[in-house]
Amino acid sequence: MSDHSEEVDDMREPARGVALITGGAGFLGSHLCERLMAEGMRVVCVDNFATGRAENLAHLADLPGFELREADLTRPFDPGEPVDTVFHLASAASPPDYLRLPVETLEAGSLGTRNALEVARRYGARFVLASTSEVYGDPLEYPQRETYWGNVNPVGPRSVYDEAKRYAESLTMAYHRAYGTDVGIARIFNSYGPRMRADDGRMVPTFVNQALAGEPLTVAGDGMQTRSLCYVDDTVRGLMALADSGVTGPVNIGSDEELSVLSLVRVVLNTTGSESGITFVERPQDDPRFRRPDIRLAREQLGWEPRVRLAEGLRRTVAYFADLRSGRDLNAEA
Ligand code: NAD
Repeated sequence: MSDHSEEVDDMREPARGVALITGGAGFLGSHLCERLMAEGMRVVCVDNFATGRAENLAHLADLPGFELREADLTRPFDPGEPVDTVFHLASAASPPDYLRLPVETLEAGSLGTRNALEVARRYGARFVLASTSEVYGDPLEYPQRETYWGNVNPVGPRSVYDEAKRYAESLTMAYHRAYGTDVGIARIFNSYGPRMRADDGRMVPTFVNQALAGEPLTVAGDGMQTRSLCYVDDTVRGLMALADSGVTGPVNIGSDEELSVLSLVRVVLNTTGSESGITFVERPQDDPRFRRPDIRLAREQLGWEPRVRLAEGLRRTVAYFADLRSGRDLNAEA
């Protein structure tokens, strides 16, 4: 948690109360749990370990005020105590994961979101939905503002994720309108950092681990497609700023520093000092060509913007995977 201490000073008054985090054993969820604990909240985390790992939370497990429960959110769930905030993150998120778990992903977005919203409704909690830039599909508007309705293929393989999240947003707004549930929708763009799985298929862990192993980096298509990468600490700070605001959104949370996949490859090779080459592979179906959020709304309404530059975020991420590969588990320093 040492990396976080300098940032806590300039945040809001320490939050109090109980937070329920669905999908808390995953990449983003584990960082969110850690950060909420550091702010003095009691954290109840629920996960079915479909794509997450209890090890991600091992350093919090024995702390007072933290609880990890194994449960599948697609079944009705009650935390058994009042909660103040529900952060709903439970869903496969990386393409290989959701393509391997198509029905489960649709169910996490539909039944899972319904069950998480029911908890918020029952206890009068604020509900924060971890939605995604994928609701914009292969965007025809650039950069993507929250007012853009998206360009999604509803029957393509990726639709299990995109449409699940679009439905989750719709259901969230329905609870807000029908029951007055206090909700906030975050459209998260590509995030990266320690505790991603080396094999989760997302670009950063794939490239970093290929570079560290001295293997060729596999670039899809010609590598000219763009992405905007947000360091995990910034993403988590954005989710917390949304939770602490009265903003309904949707609000884009992501970096507006855009770079091509080939540029990312160069930064990874520099950071790792690797001499790996590049292998070009086929681009997946419906893979978006451009991806860059317009984050004016988050700046204006949440006072949030990313702070960690790519070179620094990658340095921390490379250090994490290098330690993991050498057999050390430095979770606490992640
Ligand atoms: P992740 O796969 O690491 O974490 C998701 C967690 O949800 C895992 O721990 C998994 O076991 C759990 N889960 C899945 N289905 C469940 C169910 N039915 N019941 C209980 N737990 C369940 O993914 P992540 O990158 O940490 O993403 C977290 C959330 O943020 C997801 O909802 C994702 O759609 C969203 N998001 C992430 C990114 C990103 O770049 N990481 C971008 C946009 C949106």
